[in-house]
Amino acid sequence: MGKGNKRLETKMIHAGYQAAEHLGSLTPPIYQTSTFTFSNAEQGAERFAGEDDGYIYSRLGNPTVRVLEERIAALENGAGALAFGSGMAAVSAILFHLIQSGDHILCSRGVYGCTFGLLEMLEGKFQIEHDFIEMADEERIRNSIKENTACIYVETPINPTMELVDLSLICKIGNELNIPVVVDNTFCSPYLQQPLQYGANYVVHSATKYIGGHGDVVGGLLIGDSIEQMNTIRMTTQKDIGGIMSPFDAWLLLRGLKTLAVRMDRHCDNAKKIARYLAGHAKVKTIYYPGNKDHPDYHIAKAQMTKAGGLISFQIEGTIETAQQFMNELSMVKIAVSLGDAETLIQHPVSMTHSIVPAESREKMGIHDTLLRLSVGLEAWEDICEDLEQAFQKLKAAALPTTQ
Ligand SMILES: *Cc1c(COP(=O)(O)O)cnc(C)c1O
Repeated sequence: MGKGNKRLETKMIHAGYQAAEHLGSLTPPIYQTSTFTFSNAEQGAERFAGEDDGYIYSRLGNPTVRVLEERIAALENGAGALAFGSGMAAVSAILFHLIQSGDHILCSRGVYGCTFGLLEMLEGKFQIEHDFIEMADEERIRNSIKENTACIYVETPINPTMELVDLSLICKIGNELNIPVVVDNTFCSPYLQQPLQYGANYVVHSATKYIGGHGDVVGGLLIGDSIEQMNTIRMTTQKDIGGIMSPFDAWLLLRGLKTLAVRMDRHCDNAKKIARYLAGHAKVKTIYYPGNKDHPDYHIAKAQMTKAGGLISFQIEGTIETAQQFMNELSMVKIAVSLGDAETLIQHPVSMTHSIVPAESREKMGIHDTLLRLSVGLEAWEDICEDLEQAFQKLKAAALPTTQ
């Protein structure tokens, strides 16, 4: 398979794998082995000296995992990639690589809860400070960069309000000042958005979400634009800290990637229809979905995402109890965090994923008490709407107990 000259959908299925090198096996085999034998003492010495690039030990590299790394590097147009045991292992590996004690990290206004936890830990233990800013205004971003800013770390869309960050703008500033830009691309997958194309230096994924796509694996991926940097990370934060991916999980993710394009199309199409249904609903107050023309960042979505994604957040009329009752009345839609699975999932940010964020910051970010986040699955969209509708109907009955 020629490199780089195939389309994205094709690379999801073929990149990084040559069947002829694996006894013709159509599917990459699972190399379930901890270590690799050397044919003689000299070969072992050469491998350790880096003169022979065969495998040594699975924490330093494994053939099944390597296929996944090469495939995701091809999909994000990176120079190299590394696989980790979770999205958080990938996030911590890149941060540990880029920062030193005393540094500063500039972050988008919202980051994944455990990334927030990691930033707090870095501050407490290693005096690495961070700031969260709304990254809409160029002047504001430039003014927030300090002498010790070691990296810019952004998520877009930001969970759960679907606020977007303009990647061209951030990367222009980062590249100009020589500050590495890291983008958590979990919510989009490489099918909807490819940050390196705008000048980002690193992309991280929680592969647990859309890349796996079936809710059966936890994994993380890191893609970089420099092979030298990626090799350094392989031999330091990956090898020495050790948050590696297992061969079986890599195999599951390779299987997930084969259907990423068709799954994403369905997630996005379903979400579009459900967003339309929710937008016209009397019990829905606000809806956060970047595919809506009245979303404040609609123009950014148009510029950097090929479709609007599979996530919708919506605020319903009522109180926290109404939001909880609504979730409890659902019969098919499952109450769970995570996203990107075949099953439609719903969660309540205020009491779940964002319960650690102080109430006043939550309000400022638009995370209200009755906000619900829906990860639209692959079911028939009509069945998802019918389930939501019957739950809304029951709310009505409960809210007006005296009318019968
Ligand atoms: C889930 C998630 C993570 C963390 O990934 P894990 O695989 O759960 O460790 C990081 N960032 C985003 C945006 C996520 O949704």
